[in-house]
Amino acid sequence: MIPFLDLKAINERFESSFHESFQQFLESGYYVLGNQVKLFEANFARYCGTKHCVGVGNGLDALRLILEGYKILGKLKDNDEVLVASNTYIATILAIKQAGLKPVLVETDLDTYNFDLASLKNSITKKSRVVMPVHLYGQLSQMKEIQKILKENNLLVIEDAAQAHGARNDEGKRAGNLGDAAGFSFYPTKNLGALGDAGAITTNDDDLANVLSKLRNYGTSSKYVNDLVGFNSRLDELQAAFLNCKLPSLDMDNNRRREIAKRYLSEIKNKKITLPKYDGSEDHVFHLFVVRVENRNEFIDYLDRNGIGHLIHYPIPPHQQKALSDYSDLSFPNTEKTHNQIISIPISPILSEVDVERIIEVLNSY
Ligand SMILES: *Cc1c(COP(=O)(O)O)cnc(C)c1O
Repeated sequence: MIPFLDLKAINERFESSFHESFQQFLESGYYVLGNQVKLFEANFARYCGTKHCVGVGNGLDALRLILEGYKILGKLKDNDEVLVASNTYIATILAIKQAGLKPVLVETDLDTYNFDLASLKNSITKKSRVVMPVHLYGQLSQMKEIQKILKENNLLVIEDAAQAHGARNDEGKRAGNLGDAAGFSFYPTKNLGALGDAGAITTNDDDLANVLSKLRNYGTSSKYVNDLVGFNSRLDELQAAFLNCKLPSLDMDNNRRREIAKRYLSEIKNKKITLPKYDGSEDHVFHLFVVRVENRNEFIDYLDRNGIGHLIHYPIPPHQQKALSDYSDLSFPNTEKTHNQIISIPISPILSEVDVERIIEVLNSY
């Protein structure tokens, strides 16, 4: 059996440095917003090439707090429209709603699974204030084209980079440094994953970073001095310590993911299986390797019989979820088709060549 994702084995590689960090953590007696959080913020900002990184509790809060921060700075107000992919994990959309803004869902492009650029253009109204590209499955959104579309409209660009840690554009700029601000999640399954919940915001905007460092901690500027109606969404000290152990291996892990993806792309040859399009024009860190099949249930039975793990990212599009019933009248044919046909096959930095070959063989014999 090849599991879809063996998190335990992924983290086993870091066990001795985790133990060492935990020992130091215990000895420090300092549990919240300590040196490990500061160190991770500095490390991750340097890694992404941004001036600032603000650690927060999770990816949802990262996105929400960016929007709340811009409201405090007067750049956004209640009910402003945020253009967002209709094909995303629901967190992206919930963050917008929770911040009191209005998500405007945009149709998916079937080649990239990111924004359909024509639909994006058509969705801009006088009320649009923000575009939130999601680098879904690890592939960068077409940021240059998006910037071109936005040129006359003066919208904020907020990346949902939760699946794209480390992806670079053709100038070497990384996800997190391609817009005004970006939200990251370090949920354990992500390319850079903690051992629990964790998240961060990256930005080059000094004012935003300053507001966010208060907002995540009860709006505090110094102990028991509250400037803002803040939140409690701090990056956990211990998770920051674990992330400091793992960050130096992120590029190596992403390279391994890309290497496996390239093998899948060149060696899986089966008309019944639509592979992701990856021509190198937008970088891809293959958080997931997502294929499409027409008869998904049959394919799932086949994978089960052959011991290949699988998951669906995601089975129900956000606009058809009960939680977003006010969007249920909307129709996005590409997004719906995607959700009906997609299935993710195993890809991870610790997959062995034997496993990769077995997966290729099983998919070719379908
Ligand atoms: C994981 C994820 C999030 C949410 O992150 P959490 O840390 O679980 O809150 C948001 N957007 C996308 C695209 C994600 O994959």
